[in-house]
Amino acid sequence: EKIESEIMDRGDPVTFDDIAGLLDAKQTVQEVVCWPMKRPDLFTGLRRAPNGLLLYGPPGTGKTLIGKAIAHESGATFFSISSSSLTSKWIGEGEKLVRTLFAVAGVREPSVVFIDEIDSLLTQRKSDENEASRRIKTEFLVQLDGTGTSGRGRVLIIGATNRPQELDEAARRRFTKRLYIPLPNEDDRERLLRVLLDNNKHSLVDSEIVKLAKDTDGFSGADLKALSTDAAMGPIRELGSRALDVNIDDIPPIAYKHFRQALRGIK
Ligand code: ATP
Repeated sequence: EKIESEIMDRGDPVTFDDIAGLLDAKQTVQEVVCWPMKRPDLFTGLRRAPNGLLLYGPPGTGKTLIGKAIAHESGATFFSISSSSLTSKWIGEGEKLVRTLFAVAGVREPSVVFIDEIDSLLTQRKSDENEASRRIKTEFLVQLDGTGTSGRGRVLIIGATNRPQELDEAARRRFTKRLYIPLPNEDDRERLLRVLLDNNKHSLVDSEIVKLAKDTDGFSGADLKALSTDAAMGPIRELGSRALDVNIDDIPPIAYKHFRQALRGIK
């Protein structure tokens, strides 16, 4: 029960439509993991679903969102945990936690277990590696072998990392499906800005959104979100403390100039 309350995700459901861009990745995960979760009988033999899915790429590009969307679209329970929270437990606790995590996920199947920063859990053996983290890693690999659509219930393990090169070979091998989640290109940035502005009072016209997408080369989805959040504060900032007395309809819309100001701050 404690594990469930700690790591079961009860946040808002995420759908694939909420994820801007990443069309190839979305298509692939639908085919290789969502459909097999729904219809395991169709996906046997060569079509057998992977036990583990590794999402790798720069930070803030939507790996967690993909994990949540997979769970939502396949009607699975979503468990989310970061490696650091597993390894920072008291000696012996981390190992037990891994075992319990998989047991709970099995009971709640179909389920998706999302592990962020998986590199720090399954790192290449280092000389300074201590006994506790070695045991957590071993336990994790053992558990990973026992899952998948053909094993104990439908439990999909998704590992996310910004440093795939630091995973050791034994770990990498177990994530039979690996997907690169890149930074958004210009078109994707434009799409994401539109998604972010949706449901907000704003005055940006198409050409301004296009210009912003052009000027944010190298931004991740999370960076664009931070930029938009900052820009959205623009109208309030201009009013200063007077904003607190203003009727909501009298707050000016978020404008292009607010994005330019936010961009200057970031640069
Ligand atoms: P990290 O590697 O830092 O854990 P991540 O790749 O898991 O990052 P997310 O947590 O999924 O990234 O994304 C961070 C935030 O950025 C999301 O909550 C979302 O608001 C926004 N975001 C990133 N990419 C996208 C996208 N493609 N579509 C919509 N929102 C996105």
